[in-house]
Amino acid sequence: MEIDRTAIAHNVRTIRAALGPQVEFCAVVKADAYGHGIDIVAPLLAESQVDLIGVASNEDAAAVRSSGFTGRLMRVRPAGRDEVDDGIRFGVEEWIGGAEHAGIVSAVAAARDTRIRGHLSLNSTGLGRDGLEVGEPQGMRAAQDALADPLLDVVGVCSHFPCEDVADVVAGSAHFAAQSLAVLDASDGRGIARHCATTFAALHVPESRFDLVRIGAGLYGDTDALGGVLRPAMRVVSRIAAINSYPRGSTVGYDRWHRLDADARLALIPLGYADGFHRSLSGTGEVLVQGARARIVDRIAMNSFLVDVSHIPEAAPGDEVVLFGAQHDQAITSADVDRAHGSIAADLYVAWGRLLPRRAVGAAG
Ligand SMILES: *Cc1c(COP(=O)(O)O)cnc(C)c1O
Repeated sequence: MEIDRTAIAHNVRTIRAALGPQVEFCAVVKADAYGHGIDIVAPLLAESQVDLIGVASNEDAAAVRSSGFTGRLMRVRPAGRDEVDDGIRFGVEEWIGGAEHAGIVSAVAAARDTRIRGHLSLNSTGLGRDGLEVGEPQGMRAAQDALADPLLDVVGVCSHFPCEDVADVVAGSAHFAAQSLAVLDASDGRGIARHCATTFAALHVPESRFDLVRIGAGLYGDTDALGGVLRPAMRVVSRIAAINSYPRGSTVGYDRWHRLDADARLALIPLGYADGFHRSLSGTGEVLVQGARARIVDRIAMNSFLVDVSHIPEAAPGDEVVLFGAQHDQAITSADVDRAHGSIAADLYVAWGRLLPRRAVGAAG
């Protein structure tokens, strides 16, 4: 896996400029920077104008701190008791995911004789994952209790969108505006940031930005927002291990998965589902060889799969194969992988980040 530092630095600068100076920028690096590597991404953020870094696990938080980032860290989901406890040493601001969860965070603070900074989640956008239902008296009372809790330092009120759809984000933003204002009215007027926007919302619906935005996908160029000016930062590259020709009528792969309807040259790629190339890509995914697209014709095996290179006569063992990203003027994009995999590409590339060797390319500037 190659991670293009120049692309990430460009994306951060471009998003920062699009947001304008009033909005705080939280760069989300959960799941080891969406598989791109916190060790590669965090140093680029430390030098740029991001205000906070968003993490999920304490492993992420530790990696961000060891990169030298000393600024604010926010968790972007509720954490369990032990995770909150262990997060104190990294100064993680917790995502407070409900009434009972506020009690858990508060109890950890009490046991450690400290206060914990947190962001109070509201279910205004209707994700239905966490967050208080402050339209109900009980939910509003819980919000007031959290704000009054001396062990919690509530510095944010937040929500999270369920859909990447402009109309849905517009409606959710309006609902969050009203509900978060009602919650702030119950506070004593201390500075509490309101935030709900992700990459899609922040870049398509300016009124979703409020005081702060939480940007993940945009950093890595996995978005069409801003007219396609953000650059994908990841390339996954292998080499053809072997090529064989088989006559029409031959079957290919386990379970005789595919039958050749013409004589074919098949190239073996030495990666499989053990490396995160999910079986969902069997018969649907494509790779690039010599700048041309080649279809996966095999049922993906544990450590190999076959692509049809009959239309690329110059293809030879040792040739570079691109499984994700660009080669010459072609690219296997996130949208291609979405289609082939039948789910979002992030579902795969986050796992590739754990499974494949990775190196940074490009200058940081
Ligand atoms: C992952 C995440 C984000 C970032 O979303 P993108 O669509 O990748 O920009 C923001 N907020 C929360 C709560 C998240 O979990």
